[in-house]
Amino acid sequence: MRRVVIIGGGAIGSAIAYFLTKDPEAEPFEVTVVERDFSYKQASSALSASSIRQQFSTAINIEMSLYGIDFFRHLGETLRVGDDVPDIGLVEPGYLYLASPAGVDVLRENHAMQKAHAVDVALMTAEELKARFPWISTEGVELASLGLSGEGWYDGYSLLQAFRKKAASQGARYVQAHATGLRRKGSSVTGVQLDKGETLEADIVVNAAGAWAAKVAEWAGIDLPVRGRRRSVFSFSCPEALPGCPLVIDTSGIWLRPEGRQFICGFAPSADQDPDDAPLDVEYGAFDELIWPALAERIPAFEAIRMTGAWAGYYEMNLFDHNAILGLHPDCDNLYFANGFSGHGLQQCPAAGRGIAELIRFGEYRSLDLSPVSFARILENKPLLEKNVI
Ligand SMILES: Cc1cc2nc3c(=O)[nH]c(=O)nc-3n(C[C@H](O)[C@H](O)[C@H](O)COP(=O)(O)OP(=O)(O)OC[C@H]3O[C@@H](n4cnc5c(N)ncnc54)[C@H](O)[C@@H]3O)c2cc1C
Repeated sequence: MRRVVIIGGGAIGSAIAYFLTKDPEAEPFEVTVVERDFSYKQASSALSASSIRQQFSTAINIEMSLYGIDFFRHLGETLRVGDDVPDIGLVEPGYLYLASPAGVDVLRENHAMQKAHAVDVALMTAEELKARFPWISTEGVELASLGLSGEGWYDGYSLLQAFRKKAASQGARYVQAHATGLRRKGSSVTGVQLDKGETLEADIVVNAAGAWAAKVAEWAGIDLPVRGRRRSVFSFSCPEALPGCPLVIDTSGIWLRPEGRQFICGFAPSADQDPDDAPLDVEYGAFDELIWPALAERIPAFEAIRMTGAWAGYYEMNLFDHNAILGLHPDCDNLYFANGFSGHGLQQCPAAGRGIAELIRFGEYRSLDLSPVSFARILENKPLLEKNVI
């Protein structure tokens, strides 16, 4: 039986563990997931805004998220363990992208790409936008794009736990330990070293270490362009309800969405304010200085909001082209990568999990071809740039 050790037991590592152990008819694997913190305090999967969209600019991201929404819709049945039917609270009010005159061409290009993949999305003029969402100000908005179905949000922590419980029920073993190194022989990895001095023997190793993945790659002498980039999320209450409110991406780049009876929102810091691996301290100043003024301008009811909480987590940012890096590196025979999702990894965990499991089992992708996000593009210096990174 081939022994697979997965470093990182977040949504990505747990989805891979689930898909590897799912089929009792197929070749069995002995799967061990090494996770240093079972409370997932710093894991992106637990600190995520946990939303899903198909409004991407690249075909591969659209396809991965189309599979993601289909998986999420049936997740209760697929990941049930006996009578325990997981519920991730999926809702589908859509994403609403707002474009200024300068952003119209890109929005139209993206729309054409999305329509070619049968995404249920519609362009709206400012007048149509106002008629549908009377609470929004259309000042500076030339065109908008609304997901009519298949886009929304869910609970990321429940998603991670659902994958983990199901994988464990199928035989995956979770070990709480810090992986500290790889034992190597030639161009292969033969074991994963743990902080307690133990080494887990391995025929196959998977790097699913999220924002910390570059360290794991370094142990195999591989330069992985993935860094932790802090993102702060703020929750706030508003005295007025906003009927039908989707996840809104303002022309300023600031996003917001309902969360129960409240709202959450966030922003992308400018490049010079976005260091690698900054401590996970919330950037409180940004709320008053940047976010609130922009929100109140876009949605006048937000003049009267009150911040109720905040947290910060890492995007595992692929600095090369803001897309996932999946599969083997040519310099190492049996170390698989599932990294660099750059803020859209939770919705892609079903597709990435299934894809990596196929690659390990069959040596090729059998369902969705994920080779556009392989290492090859980095080595050939051909970026697959995703324009819609929020
Ligand atoms: C604020 C925020 C908002 C986001 N919004 C969205 C969104 O709306 N939609 C979306 O799809 N995605 C979103 N994301 C991104 C998404 O959350 C991530 O892409 C996804 O959770 C990555 O999952 P992961 O399993 O790779 O990483 P993680 O969940 O971070 O898991 C990696 C795990 O590896 C463990 N680990 C690392 N190194 C070691 C080691 N050496 N030994 C043992 N264990 C180790 C860590 O403890 C961690 O638990 C958001 C992220 C953030 C921070």
